[in-house]
Amino acid sequence: MERKRRIGLIIGGMVLAVVLLLTFLAARSRTAEDDTGLALAGEARRGSLTVELDKAVADVRIREARLPGRPIVLIDPGHGGRDPGAPGVSGASREKDLTLAMASELADLLAQRGRVRVAMTREDDKYLSLEQRAGIARRLQAALFLSIHMDSAPNPMARGATIYSLSDVASSEEAARFAMAENGRDGALSSEADDTVRALLSDVALREQMEDSANLAERLLRRAAGSVELRPRPHQFAAFHVLRRAETPAVLVEAGYISNADDEAKLMTKEGRAPLVLALAQAVEADVATRSNP
Ligand SMILES: [Zn+2]
Repeated sequence: MERKRRIGLIIGGMVLAVVLLLTFLAARSRTAEDDTGLALAGEARRGSLTVELDKAVADVRIREARLPGRPIVLIDPGHGGRDPGAPGVSGASREKDLTLAMASELADLLAQRGRVRVAMTREDDKYLSLEQRAGIARRLQAALFLSIHMDSAPNPMARGATIYSLSDVASSEEAARFAMAENGRDGALSSEADDTVRALLSDVALREQMEDSANLAERLLRRAAGSVELRPRPHQFAAFHVLRRAETPAVLVEAGYISNADDEAKLMTKEGRAPLVLALAQAVEADVATRSNP
């Protein structure tokens, strides 16, 4: 009897060891595979998301302002690496390259003017998940998060810039569809992580984040009016996970339609991008100044 029980215990222990080993190997191979949203969402619950984000943040260069301690503005060039974003109608441009060019020009201009500290989520052609981008904003405690994209539509006549601000209610069906497309795989898979965020953020903080984001969008549009071609209803609201999870006032700028030949040609040159870049820089500085000295 005694011996049987001991054998039972040994067999039980061996089974447990094998199960633990298999679980460990499965987790390792999933992490090693690549940094998909799924792996990240899974990792987050096991606590190693921190490591992933540390790696991303370690690469982030913060450019100082003329005075120390100024707020950090985080500029996020959309897409990158294996995610090219939308293709240009000419076949000669890709969204991920144009967003990087425009974001770099904006960062350079802000650094040169020296009123805010500036950082970018990526400065080269690398892939970052939406969660990683938002994570950088949280880690840096950015005062403001600006994600830069280029639009694309089946209608080749559609053109002009749009500013999306964070909302729990989309302003149109198109905005809702667009948010769903941009949230994409990351968005769908991080819904569980979203519950955590929702629990952490009080309703009041979220309302305030949405209000500040909407004010920033309005300010951007006032600065851009006259020098930048805008869509007929240029301020749209949508539920972007990346904006909410940045936990700071955040907007998504669609600089124009690269599915339109005129917009694409303009967005492909530094001169063509300059009016929007200047409007963004001025609005960002004014916004940060209002909120840092109320
Ligand atoms: Zn995009």
